[in-house]
Amino acid sequence: MHQESRSLRHVLLPVVLAGIALAGCATPQPKPVSAAATTTAPTQPNEIRWYRVSAEQRAIYAEVYRSATQAARARAATLPAGSWAVILDVDETVLDNSEYQKRLALSGQRYSDETWNAWVKERSAPALPGAQAFLDTVRNELKGRVVLVTNRKQSQCADTQENLRGVGIGFDVALCDATGDGNKNPRFQSVISGTAGLPALNVILWVGDNIKDFPGLDQQHTGDAAEFGTRFFVLPNPMYGSWERLPDR
Ligand SMILES: [Mg+2]
Repeated sequence: MHQESRSLRHVLLPVVLAGIALAGCATPQPKPVSAAATTTAPTQPNEIRWYRVSAEQRAIYAEVYRSATQAARARAATLPAGSWAVILDVDETVLDNSEYQKRLALSGQRYSDETWNAWVKERSAPALPGAQAFLDTVRNELKGRVVLVTNRKQSQCADTQENLRGVGIGFDVALCDATGDGNKNPRFQSVISGTAGLPALNVILWVGDNIKDFPGLDQQHTGDAAEFGTRFFVLPNPMYGSWERLPDR
């Protein structure tokens, strides 16, 4: 506290002296730096504000899920009922965890397993725009299966499924990260080969907010651009992701 007062005087004294020296000049002078400016509370960064408040966020989710619905309808037309599936990620794909991100930002904290686990246990993440309607169409109208593949831990799977059901998200199976390696490819393969608790299924499309939500893809292996909008549907997440580890350019 003493140190803070001393440094504040250090900052303000030259400003006050400059104000006195310039008091006789006719030109308007900039206001002195206020003490409040040096002690502002944490605020939400733009990426969290964009995700939570912008019309564009809601429009993009609606747009992507509408496109995914059209693709599912077209692809399912020639497939037997119950023989095919769609695979979706959970966080920032069907569930909105921006409230957790906001809390971290406003309390000046970084992500931790402890705070994330407490958030998962709250089961209070809302559904994202368009997700419920898409999944209802797949299951009820088109007669496909819905598999959720999430990197939430196995120990968090029951709370996650309760959260999903609580906001009306219908699914057949939710596969959490039992190995802790974060690699979704073996779980994608288990859906295709029939070892995920369902019969072997023809997976017709994937939806996710991270490039690693799509089979075989990552930040270095970004796939065929023609797949996006046809078989792979990407949602925006400016708050976090595997992109964070990339170098600047
Ligand atoms: Mg995600």
